[in-house]
Amino acid sequence: MEWSLTADQRRWRDTARAYATEVVAPAAPALDAEADPEKSFSWALVDAASEYGLRLAPLPPEFGGGGTDFLTNAVMLEEIAAADLGTSVVLAQTWKFAQLLMELGTADQHERWLRRLMQNRRGLMAASLTEPNGGSDNVLPYAGVNGGMQMRAEKVDGGWVLNGQKVYISNSNRADSIIAFARTNPNEPVRTGVSMFIVPGDSPQVTFGAVCDKLGERLANNAAIFYENVFVPDQDLLGRENEGLADVARLLRGSNAYAAACTLGVARAAFGRALRYTAERVQGGRRVIDHDDIGVQFAEMYSQLESARTYVFRAAWAADNAKAFDPKMAAMPKLLASQVAFDVTRASLEMFGGSGVMRETGMEKLMRDATIFLHSDGTNTVMRKKIAADLRARADGNGALDALWDW
Ligand SMILES: Cc1cc2nc3c(=O)[nH]c(=O)nc-3n(C[C@H](O)[C@H](O)[C@H](O)COP(=O)(O)OP(=O)(O)OC[C@H]3O[C@@H](n4cnc5c(N)ncnc54)[C@H](O)[C@@H]3O)c2cc1C
Repeated sequence: MEWSLTADQRRWRDTARAYATEVVAPAAPALDAEADPEKSFSWALVDAASEYGLRLAPLPPEFGGGGTDFLTNAVMLEEIAAADLGTSVVLAQTWKFAQLLMELGTADQHERWLRRLMQNRRGLMAASLTEPNGGSDNVLPYAGVNGGMQMRAEKVDGGWVLNGQKVYISNSNRADSIIAFARTNPNEPVRTGVSMFIVPGDSPQVTFGAVCDKLGERLANNAAIFYENVFVPDQDLLGRENEGLADVARLLRGSNAYAAACTLGVARAAFGRALRYTAERVQGGRRVIDHDDIGVQFAEMYSQLESARTYVFRAAWAADNAKAFDPKMAAMPKLLASQVAFDVTRASLEMFGGSGVMRETGMEKLMRDATIFLHSDGTNTVMRKKIAADLRARADGNGALDALWDW
């Protein structure tokens, strides 16, 4: 086992760290404080991501990227999230769906959609699954025909016509291209009746709701999307007809680790601030950090954080080495990391006493940000149910239990 980053990975980490500290960190508090959630998003941060070579980092050089792997991307997302969670999500969404297009798309789709993304220096991506009445049922996914997304794609001559509504979609109103999930066979459950389509974000038949006024992750915009008679030509069906959810599960290997890395970045920032604050603040005749019980708490928090990071990076590495990828790695990294991130951030905030809840220390923003991945990318209850289903399947199989411990 090699447990160190390569020189190339360290270079990317340093670039992400420079972007985070030089550009994102100075801008984030004021953007986060905007009362109008739409204004919390900043094109200047996207422009800068393009300048630092980060916007499409995972794509190959011919499409404007650096060919970074899942592990490198997770490392970079943690760096960026340590400066601001929302900015890391804006990039993570773009990276994972650009990677999906790269892996699953035809040569023609690469030429048209990835070329377009590259040429637009503000090119971002979004993917829309969730609907007002279909959230967790798309993620588990639910086996009944009536559960999950109901948006329809009807076959017509030369293509498909999409009609329906999606909610909470990250980057939706800012996206150059959107992956739309719709039922192509309404008589099947979502697992076997949904397909993916590539839709231009500037299509006149695609409109957006008001930007969601969120508790945290405010620098990323989320909004509803309304698809009204959107014609998609046959060549913009992405992947296999009716197998959209299976294709996504197979190819979005790093997605859960990306979410995990983002939320760990928040906890890392909170932990660092708490360390610095307690090294200055004096109570009981000594620095707060010099009190034994505070030191022990820091030790516990650091152990939790490092354990979660180690697993998240292993999961990201496994995503790059498909044979080592365990399906539970599509649920466990985010489950573990979001719980640790929430606990560590809350404990860090308490180290500040009363000033922790004052905006000027930055801790209350981190606390709000740390709540987001308890639910986003699938609720943690649903993550546990997916892990439980895998364990149950192993328990039912002959001799499969040993494989639980084989990496
Ligand atoms: C910040 C943010 C960004 C997002 N970005 C995107 C995006 O880019 N694209 C996208 O498509 N979606 C996005 N979403 C939607 C997100 O994926 C859903 O919110 C999530 O899947 C949960 O669905 P829901 O909100 O409908 O909750 P529900 O599914 O209604 O869940 C409500 C409660 O019921 C529980 N529950 C549900 N089913 C079961 C069950 N079978 N057994 C036991 N308990 C259950 C849940 O755990 C939860 O506690 C985003 C959401 C947020 C908050």
